[in-house]
Amino acid sequence: MDCFIEEIISELTLPVPKLQELSLRFEEELENGLLRPDAMLKMLPTFVFALPTGSEVGKYLTVDLGGTNLRVALVDLLGNHKYSIRKDSWPIPDSLKSGHGTKIFTFIAQKIEEFLAHPEIEAELPLKLGFTFSFPIQQESLQHGCIMGWSKEIECADVIGQDAVKLLQESLHQRGLDISVEALVNDTVGTLLAQKYRDDRTGMSVILGTGSNAAYIERCSEIKKQNFPKNDQQLTLINIEWGTFGDTEAEPLLPLTRFDVTLDSESKNSKQQKFEKMISGMYLGEIFRLILCEAVEKGIFNWTGTDETKPAASVSPYSIKTKDMSDFHEAFVSENREKCLEIIAEKFKIECSTETSDKIITQLARLCESISLRSCCLCAVGITAVYRRLIRHDIIKSTDLFTVAVDGSLYQHYPNYSKILQELVCQMTRGSDEACCRIVLVMAEDLSSVGAAAAIAAIENIK
Ligand code: ADP
Ligand code: MG
Repeated sequence: MDCFIEEIISELTLPVPKLQELSLRFEEELENGLLRPDAMLKMLPTFVFALPTGSEVGKYLTVDLGGTNLRVALVDLLGNHKYSIRKDSWPIPDSLKSGHGTKIFTFIAQKIEEFLAHPEIEAELPLKLGFTFSFPIQQESLQHGCIMGWSKEIECADVIGQDAVKLLQESLHQRGLDISVEALVNDTVGTLLAQKYRDDRTGMSVILGTGSNAAYIERCSEIKKQNFPKNDQQLTLINIEWGTFGDTEAEPLLPLTRFDVTLDSESKNSKQQKFEKMISGMYLGEIFRLILCEAVEKGIFNWTGTDETKPAASVSPYSIKTKDMSDFHEAFVSENREKCLEIIAEKFKIECSTETSDKIITQLARLCESISLRSCCLCAVGITAVYRRLIRHDIIKSTDLFTVAVDGSLYQHYPNYSKILQELVCQMTRGSDEACCRIVLVMAEDLSSVGAAAAIAAIENIK
């Protein structure tokens, strides 16, 4: 019984030397992505040339379309690194995640209209809008961006290749709303800009929500695949689209387990975003479920109920959410045995008797721990690769503090995730200097809206 669990845990465990090796490879791929348009990492230029200083002021409407939630906000930039924000959010209905993509934009406009129904918000019209879009976009300017494809199990092929700004602007016009879409940013970029507004040392952002991705500060002269001035010292932001790390390798680059392979082959974007699938909130619960399925097949656990009445919920894909794993792990850490048993019965559908329950709780918690730790480790691979690149290219100094803004429910809520990730990036970059770690991870909760507003304000400042 223990053997099986131990074996899986050891397959999920990534030793530090392996992480260092992956991080070096990641750093090479950062460079390749700036040189070639067909590289493993898309390394998308964002056309953000005006980085906020924290002095910007103004009121802006913002929309953030994530993989799970839609967030609308009225952001008031107050200058002096301060802002106030009034926001609302809605889950994105599953019915919109496939079929015609225009339905998503109609939904956004509808929710903006609802948000504006508050008289004091409506009084602010006309408003400029900053649009945060958590999917890859090919930009030619801050005001345009073609949708390159979907991810995170969304599949609306008809709008691929279309301009996300135009699609949103048309939906807003159809409702007669006096709002102009002035900036389009990826969520990573929005998060980075927002944290930059708060703290000038910010050089990178990471998203750990439904999906996972990151952005960082780069010199325009390094973007050699596109027509950027070659000797331009101007800084800009790059959206790495890091979820594709490892995708195009014939020899598997990532230490995939059979569970990752199954998850990938059964997902809507098979063979794509393999790195993201090992890291993000959309997938960790599913990896856990696939492990449980194998454990049940091997007779290590039983589904609750007899064979004939096998609980459909546990065998259907994505029926166990990362939040369920996170709640269970939290209950385990806080020694809330009753809550553990409740989640095991109701969410995991695993049979537990009085004699076996302690052992099962511990085994399941160790599995959750290994899956979430592996996610942290891979995230640390990406962060340390960017950090080394920035030092090597003299964009930051090794003696300076380097702030990384991190957003997303996985990072915010998974027990100890943020603490472990911080420890890992320190461990991987400390070198001979045992005491100091220059990388500081900062929680940038729901901040991408502030960044979208700061992007508009920063351009207005230099006009
Ligand atoms: P979005 O990706 O739409 O911006 P979030 O950042 O809120 O939204 O991330 C949603 C993802 O986070 C979902 O995949 C969900 O499973 C996961 N999640 C939600 N709550 C928790 C939690 N308490 N612990 C861990 N993961 C969570
Ligand atoms: Mg998000």
